[in-house]
Amino acid sequence: MAESSSNKKSKTVEFELCFICQLRSKETDYTNYVLHPSLLSVEKLIASTDVRCLYGETEFSALKDRISGLSANELLQKSVSYHKTCYKDLTNKTHIERAKRRYEKGQASQCQ
Ligand SMILES: [Zn+2]
Repeated sequence: MAESSSNKKSKTVEFELCFICQLRSKETDYTNYVLHPSLLSVEKLIASTDVRCLYGETEFSALKDRISGLSANELLQKSVSYHKTCYKDLTNKTHIERAKRRYEKGQASQCQ
């Protein structure tokens, strides 16, 4: 049985937990958990995090920090997993649109 050796990491990202909220363990909420996301999903996760940080949603900066420039492939190799609800919320088009509008409004008012 090949246990993964405890390699030292400078940053502690709990890949045992939901990558997005880092709160609950995957064991607790199996039906609502994506254990093996597709590459496309992880790419969308990264892109959505980027865009939401860009629009000034600071609550996602910690998540961006966790991604720390890793590609979707690399995250998959680390067996990234997350709650369906967290993912849905993160990639929610309406939320992103709202953030975008707020951001653009902010930009516009700064120009006055
Ligand atoms: Zn979560």
